[in-house]
Amino acid sequence: MPIGGAVPEKHRILAQVRRPLAARAVLAAVATVGSVSVIGALSSAPDPGPLKPYQVVEALNPDPKVAGWGAELPFVREEVVKAGDSLRSLAGRLGIDDDPALEALMALPEVRRGLGGLRAGQSANAVVDAKGRLQTLGLPLGPNGERLRIGRAGDAFTVVRAEAPPPTGLDMRTGTISSSLYAATDAAGVPDPVANQLVELFGTEIDFHTDLRRGDTFRVVFEVAQQDGRVTGTGRIVAAEFVNQGHTYRVYLFRDNGGREDYFTDAGRSLRQGFLRSPLEFSRVTSGFSMRRHPILQTWRQHQGVDFGAPTGTAVKATSDGTVEFFGNQQGYGNIIVLQHRDGYSTAYAHLSRFASGLRRSASVTQGQVIGYVGQSGWATGPHLHYEFRVAGVPKDPLTVALPNAAIPPQALATFRAHIAPLRERLALLAQAGRTPLTR
Ligand SMILES: [Zn+2]
Repeated sequence: MPIGGAVPEKHRILAQVRRPLAARAVLAAVATVGSVSVIGALSSAPDPGPLKPYQVVEALNPDPKVAGWGAELPFVREEVVKAGDSLRSLAGRLGIDDDPALEALMALPEVRRGLGGLRAGQSANAVVDAKGRLQTLGLPLGPNGERLRIGRAGDAFTVVRAEAPPPTGLDMRTGTISSSLYAATDAAGVPDPVANQLVELFGTEIDFHTDLRRGDTFRVVFEVAQQDGRVTGTGRIVAAEFVNQGHTYRVYLFRDNGGREDYFTDAGRSLRQGFLRSPLEFSRVTSGFSMRRHPILQTWRQHQGVDFGAPTGTAVKATSDGTVEFFGNQQGYGNIIVLQHRDGYSTAYAHLSRFASGLRRSASVTQGQVIGYVGQSGWATGPHLHYEFRVAGVPKDPLTVALPNAAIPPQALATFRAHIAPLRERLALLAQAGRTPLTR
């Protein structure tokens, strides 16, 4: 089973299925036209060149008489991964009816490892024949577009870990929250992997479950990969601005002299050094329910923790980098995880239904890593997460603790300011564009 190396498979499959996905192709083409014109007008990013008009013409003309339309074309399905998905549950939604193939795949270590890294909110895709027999399967692996690509040759399967395509340009989008974050990112044409990065980036400043308000706005500049004028993949966010309840948060990607990359504010302060405001996963899937403080155990003072009501199975994330000090069952806490962080900080996550597979004592975890799942083990009257935040062993209200933040060293500040100047300009231009609707 070859592992590694980029494969232009996605492009090939898209080409095969363009007609059955005519409506989607039109949307993609329109979105691309939009982004290209914005890039041309506002930035000095590499010019991706003019769109080839045939793409739009072909997509707009799904003539059923065209040869190849219908029975002999494979079926293609794309589905968003949900928290707790197994290969079988995902395959069911993808229209795969092929137990022998699923069993063969589960026997492959690469596939099992890949499934362990599945990320809710990202999309998986499959090609099946008319009988539901699996032809190809693509699974999302990480935040930056890496995928596990599974192909079939007779009864054998090939498994390839495909890197995200290299960025070839930047796209810029702006949006306003009216109903939900994902409704706004959809309306703005922000791809899901980028929307998820937005949530991760600002997660130390904003609790997206409870802090979002109608009228909040965002602007985001991100890497895109293009082929033949079509966006084939997205990369990292290079600059972003989020206005939440009138407060503006802004971050830029910056690489220091040592080659380390991190996100910094205008003032050169690292955002990632803090703790996530919410330990609960926020994704397209989990953003549908409104998060609330647990009604029974009320305030922090009474029990020295914060309770987050959430359905059983909601993913629980490490709020900062650290190591696993303890996980197991402790009377009233039920299944609990305790993480040790830098500078004497520790966090605890209780009443879990289960722990993330692969969790080990003393192992390191990174901020945002899923460590367990909400439940009601121990003394809990309903599914909720009990979250504790301690400083040198003493419980503190996480919302009131001032956290030290790493910053860009003074000698690098001039370089940083020069780096962010054009990005600031782009964000400002986007803000203007957001206020004045573009006429067609
Ligand atoms: Zn509690």
